[in-house]
Amino acid sequence: MNLTLLEKILAKEPPFRLKQVKRAIFRDLVEDWSRVTTFPLPLREKLKEKYPLRIQAKTFASEDNKTVKAVISLKDNLKIETVLMHHKNKRNTICVSSQVGCPLGCIFCATGKSGFKRNLEDFEIVEQVLFFARYLKKEKQKVTNVVFMGMGEPFLNYDNVLGAIKSLNDKEGFNLGARRFSISTVGIIEGIKKLAEEKLEVNLAISLHAPNDILRSKIIPINKKYPLSDILKAVDGYIKKTRRRVMFEYIMIKGLNDSDEHAKELTELMKKRRLSFVNLISYNVTHLEVLPEETRQDSYNLIGVFKPSLGTRIKKFKDILEKAGIAVTQRYRFGQDIRGACGQLAAK
Ligand code: SAH
Ligand code: SF4
Repeated sequence: MNLTLLEKILAKEPPFRLKQVKRAIFRDLVEDWSRVTTFPLPLREKLKEKYPLRIQAKTFASEDNKTVKAVISLKDNLKIETVLMHHKNKRNTICVSSQVGCPLGCIFCATGKSGFKRNLEDFEIVEQVLFFARYLKKEKQKVTNVVFMGMGEPFLNYDNVLGAIKSLNDKEGFNLGARRFSISTVGIIEGIKKLAEEKLEVNLAISLHAPNDILRSKIIPINKKYPLSDILKAVDGYIKKTRRRVMFEYIMIKGLNDSDEHAKELTELMKKRRLSFVNLISYNVTHLEVLPEETRQDSYNLIGVFKPSLGTRIKKFKDILEKAGIAVTQRYRFGQDIRGACGQLAAK
């Protein structure tokens, strides 16, 4: 939340108040200041007026209830999407947005197609997590992981993303360990370099999706500015500095990037890299239906030509990588029936 504002509101209060207020917001997860009866009435009234806790959102749950999507309305009426994924063993991952839309326009991505409105403030990122923390509290569960794989490119909003992580990491507040956060980037080199310098043990994921510059520039326009060799050099620097593992995401799109030849090229890229692994993701097409009427047809023309790779193809691709000694994981597809989970968000 907006700590600077909070400090201003509490300026005339005794010093312990800030601690108490943070506890109420992040530990007790209160949704209404009137319930914090330990505070004097005038303070409650003041907080109610100047620092409302209400988060305006609509939720949609998948049939099996394992995925819940929230469409959150911001102060300026723009909308963003946040997704909760229930895993086994009470693991609950929140997939957060870092921007309203995304300016990078990757041609397979619904967010990219929806255009760019603005960066999110740090507290608007924090609120996405708080929203689901409150939701999970009712099920006696907790947020265990946060991934920046919703709308937007986190490294184009570096300061607010890091600010949000730091305030969720705060021991006096939400207290979620740094290792529970993952940032996914399309390969903004300045961001990778900066993150390497932070003394914060968050996880880094790189959206690779193609094993050579010709193909990658076709589907990810920003690759012309940040080509593969530069990205990989920055990642090597990051690994050397942090000694942390890096995940390379690879969406499998039928006939586009999923041939044996592509697998071999990917093997060559990955072979020399220690502490790296590839995560194969099945391309999800259901998101097209959530786009606004006017842009939907354009998107069908552009993205509609893309289809997910067949299961047998993914298996063959994976085999080639594994036989060459590359570590590979496969992401389970969440929330197909609520029109998209992570990575295919576009608020209607
Ligand atoms: N901008 C960042 C983070 C948000 S996108 C990035 O690109 O990494 C999160 C992930 O979802 C990215 O790997 C993105 O390429 C992927 N993604 C986008 N559209 C998708 C789709 N239709 N199906 C599966 N993954 C998709
Ligand atoms: Fe933006 Fe990531 Fe979508 Fe590309 S894949 S348009 S970087 S959100």
